[in-house]
Parts: sequence; C-alpha cells; structure tokens
Amino acid sequence: MVIAETSAAAPRRISVFGATGSIGVSTLDLIARNRDRFDVVALTAHSSAAQLAEQALEFRPEVAVIADDGAYLELKSALAGSGIEVAAGKAGLVEAARRPADWVMASIVGAAGLEPALAALQQGTILGLANKECLVSAGDFFMSEVARTGATLIPVDSEHSAIFQVFDPDRIANVARIVLTASGGPFRDWSLDRLAAATRAEALQHPNWEMGAKITIDSATMMNKGLELIEAHYLFPVGEERIDILVHPQSIIHSVVEYDDGSVLAQMGMPDMRTPIAYALAWPERMKTPVERLDLAEIGQLTFESPDSERFPALAIAREALKTGRGAPTVMNAANEVAVAAFLADRIGYLDIARFVEQTIDQADRTGELCRPGSLEDVLSLDAAGRELCSALISGRPESRQRRAPAAL
Ligand code: NAD
Ligand code: MG
Repeated sequence: MVIAETSAAAPRRISVFGATGSIGVSTLDLIARNRDRFDVVALTAHSSAAQLAEQALEFRPEVAVIADDGAYLELKSALAGSGIEVAAGKAGLVEAARRPADWVMASIVGAAGLEPALAALQQGTILGLANKECLVSAGDFFMSEVARTGATLIPVDSEHSAIFQVFDPDRIANVARIVLTASGGPFRDWSLDRLAAATRAEALQHPNWEMGAKITIDSATMMNKGLELIEAHYLFPVGEERIDILVHPQSIIHSVVEYDDGSVLAQMGMPDMRTPIAYALAWPERMKTPVERLDLAEIGQLTFESPDSERFPALAIAREALKTGRGAPTVMNAANEVAVAAFLADRIGYLDIARFVEQTIDQADRTGELCRPGSLEDVLSLDAAGRELCSALISGRPESRQRRAPAAL
C-alpha cells in the first residue's frame, strides 16, 4: 500500500458513490460537520433523483450522476441553473469515478459498484471500501488492480476497519488468528421451524445496525459474515483457515486479531458506522465524530457464542466457496443478490435464500462454469451467468441453462 501525502491545509477532494444510501448519508453527515476538510467532486445514486439533487445543492459537487437513465431528466431539472453537471447511466458513473479525487467512497450496494470502484482505482486514489461485494465477486482481479495502480484501499466495513486498526502487515507470520465478530442478526436464537416462516418485515429488523435492505437481509442469513470472511481473506492475507467467526450480540467489539505471543487486540466502539467511516475519511489522521461514547460500565456484559452452521448455512457456503476458489465466490455473490431480491419481493422464503445460493454454485460447478475470472470481462460474464442460473432455479426452470453433455469422441 502507498501512503498518500496529506496536507492539513488542503481540503481532501472526495467523491461518494452511493451517496443516497445508508453509508453514503453517514459519510455526508461527517463531511457536513467538517466542511473545511473536504471538497466534494462527485455524488451518485441509483434512482433517487430528488434526494441526490438535495445532496448536490448542499455539497456542491462538480457532477451528480444518476445510474438509472429513466431518472436523468428529473435530476437535470432539479439541478438546472445550479452549475452542477448532471450525468446518467453506467458510463456516467465510470466517467465520474475517473475525475481526479484524493479519496473515493465505494458505497454502492452489490456487484453494480465494481466498475466505478475499479475506475476510481485507476487514478491511484484512496478508496474507502464499504462495498464488500466488489472483493467477493472480483477479489483476485480487484487486488491485482490495487497493486498495479498503487491505490490505497481503506476498509469501511466495521469488522475490517477494526482489524485494519490492530493488524500489523509487517508481522503477518505472527498473526495466529483473525476473529470477525457477528451480531447474529435478528434471528440469532430462532429455531429452524420458526426460521422457515420468517417474514421480510422480521428479517429487516436488525437489532444493532441501521443499514440498507440488502445487507440487512444478509445479516439475517449471516451471508453477510460469509461475504466478510472473503473480504477479510483479500484484505488481510493470513489464510482462510486463520479467519474465524464469533457471534457477539452486543456489537461492541468489532473484530479481533490474535498474535502468536498470546496478545489479542480488539477495536471497540458503539455500533455506529460513522466511526469506521470517519477512520477511513481522515486516514492516516483521525477526526472527531458525534458518535455516542462507549460506556462499558453501563453496558455491563459482553457475551460471545459460536455460530450455528445448521441454522445459518450461508456461513459454511461462503467458506466452501472461498476454499473452492476459481469462480465460486463470484457466482455465490451473484446468486445471493438474486435470492435476496427474490426474498424482498416475497417470491421465496427466508430459508430458500441459502438453498438457492448453494444450488446455483453446485450447478455452475457441474456444468463447468466455475473457471477463475482473470479479467473484468470474465467477472462480469460469470456474474451474469450466476444471476441467470439462480433466477432460473427460483422460477423452477433449473434445466434451462444446463449445457449439453459433450458428444462422445
Ligand atoms: P443502501 O441500499 O442503503 O445504499 C446503496 C446505495 O447504492 C444507494 O445510494 C443507491 O442509490 C446506490 N445503488 C444501488 N444500486 C445501484 C446500482 N445498480 N447502480 C448504481 N448505484 C446503485 O446500502 P448500504 O447499506 O449503504 O450499503 C452499501 C454498501 O456498503 C454495501 O455493499 C454494504 O454491504 C456495505 N456496508 C454497509 C454497511 C451499513 O451499515 N449500511 C456496513 C458495512 C458495509
Ligand atoms: Mg460488517
């Protein structure tokens, strides 16, 4: 990693991809409280033109980009006369990501954030990475682009920010274990019978964190921790067998690094994403936040338990995909996005999410589609294949994509 030069005097030029989401709004909240430290270059959203226009009028970026072409005219008219450029579509996002900036927040949800994040890397910027799906879908390629471009990757995911703060990259051989903590989500103590009938509304009630819908469902299935396992594997290369998961319902210890002398270093704080976002925004310095201070006497007890792989199979599916390697994590991520969307649309049940993800990976493997993606094109085509396969399975058309067996010689 390259240490970027920072100057106390010059404001950091910042772009926020996914500005209207949970992470984007928290990022802008911190920027609003520290106006002298930051200038905004680009803000983007999927389709919430009104919210994006409001943010643009407040933060005065050079450009505001709406990914959904259908919302372009609404954004254009809301920003008419403001002097702020308006763009739309994937090309608009990628062009905005190429604009010179010192720091870019990758907080689009899902594999849709991959291309803008890769474009931002090209300018050797500091990339604040909230979008874990980038690393799950394209880990090898993404990390080779980080190395090639000399960009600096700062994790924003709370667990990875915690590890980053206590991980010694020069002593990797001395790291005995990394332990990712997990809240266990809203269904931590539900029986399998009860889980079979879990509803969308119940799954969206996260006990500790306020987040976008997709990651909230991922937390309920614990696929979120599976994605984070793969994310950690790429950010902190200690080997998959040295990364463990520990359920910690209070979400106060955000993760832990254990060294071989027996020292166990943890980062703690209240569950508020503005702490890891602020750490990344100010890195290598620190900045004040309005986050509630941690009062351990008030909290009284921190508890821990092992994850239950029977009730939360997504964890084992993700670990298996990481071990399988090749295209398995790409296909797993794509299938999970499709299955979560189907659950949110009330098309499948809660337990079906992990089931369809596993079936998609198995079927892709059987049909020889799990080859290692070596380029962006490979990742995108494998991602599309995973989506198509999972959609077919959900619609009860499992054979539709099956390739014909090769003719006998
Ligand atoms: P969100 O749903 O609240 O926001 C997503 C943002 O991405 C929005 O601005 C939306 O307009 C934009 N977007 C969605 N689809 C898009 C598309 N196809 N093209 C372009 N833009 C699109 O999500 P979030 O909770 O803010 O999460 C964002 C990312 O950060 C996810 O990858 C998530 O896993 C990660 N993350 C979130 C949290 C959290 O507390 N919310 C914590 C850790 C990591
Ligand atoms: Mg997390």
